[in-house]
Amino acid sequence: MTKITVLAGGVGGARFTRGLLQELANTDAGSSVTVIVNTGDDMWLDGLRICPDLDTVMYTLGGGINEEQGWGRPDESRRTSTEIAAYGRGWPWFTLGDLDLATHIVRTDLLRSGSTLSEATEFLCRRWQPGVTLLPMSDQPVETHVRLAAAVDEHAAGDLIHFEEWWVRYRAHVEVTEFVQIGLETSTAAPGVLEAIRDADLVILPPSNPVVSVGTILAVPGIREALRATRARVVGVSPIIGGSAVRGMADHCLNVIGVETSAAAVGLHYGSRGSGGVSGTGGVSGTGGVGGVLDAWLVDETDAAAVAELEAGGIRSAAVPLWMRDVSSTAAIAREVLAISALV
Ligand code: GDP
Ligand code: CA
Repeated sequence: MTKITVLAGGVGGARFTRGLLQELANTDAGSSVTVIVNTGDDMWLDGLRICPDLDTVMYTLGGGINEEQGWGRPDESRRTSTEIAAYGRGWPWFTLGDLDLATHIVRTDLLRSGSTLSEATEFLCRRWQPGVTLLPMSDQPVETHVRLAAAVDEHAAGDLIHFEEWWVRYRAHVEVTEFVQIGLETSTAAPGVLEAIRDADLVILPPSNPVVSVGTILAVPGIREALRATRARVVGVSPIIGGSAVRGMADHCLNVIGVETSAAAVGLHYGSRGSGGVSGTGGVSGTGGVGGVLDAWLVDETDAAAVAELEAGGIRSAAVPLWMRDVSSTAAIAREVLAISALV
């Protein structure tokens, strides 16, 4: 009857949670899982509210994900996106498949009828049955932007562009000076979020982007404090293996906030719950020093040398295989999370 809460971004968080559910099905069938999802990547596009991380988690756990892409649906056409592009509208670099568009249309319809994002998410999950309680981090719009260091295309130096434009259009290859999270300071945690952290037996930071996924969730007022105060153990899984971001560009985000791309540096950036942490208030670029959030941090076996450094920093650590190659190798990572949580 273990209560587990996961703080997730998109692909990394979704794949980890799928492995966790498999592990729990075999070992702890009465357990329940709540996934608090980053909504900082959300945006309005073509008149629709797009929630990339919520949808990736919902489709992955509900059996509707396009496995090769890691987002969107399998076997969908781009006919609608192509038509929108023919009008010169939308973002041609951010294609939305037509099955996926149905989700955005239904969500937007619900939001325009007065539902909150939590309510719309619950409605969509009635169809997908992800096997977890899926909660957006906040019902208020929080949108991560980056500030451009230099002019590019139609943008001037110093302009803010949406995170997804930097990530998908520019593949994070144009220099930016900071993250600016519009709406963050006045946002509040969505209903159930603080309770899910407070009442959990175990909180997991899966191998999601530590800056724009987990960092954004932690920056919602009240969430970091809830993690500091919970009686649950808090265990993280490194998204960095051997000094690079696995299948991703998280290193570009870490560079912007001045954190080295290494398993040890990311663990120490989250900080030990037992001592002061490194980053705190003011969004993911800020430094408030309000305290760390981890009891334990798993690193990959190639990063075994990081264990001593993390333990010196007050974070219990172990080096185990962290490549999520398939569901069963990911379930093995979840097993390691459960094992180390029993030791702290
Ligand atoms: P996004 O919102 O779709 O970018 O997904 P997340 O923020 O949840 O996770 C992205 C991060 O997952 C990447 O930056 C990688 O560092 C990490 N990641 C992806 N695959 C693996 C894997 O197999 N093992 C580990 N340890 N991390 C991974
Ligand atoms: Ca994301």
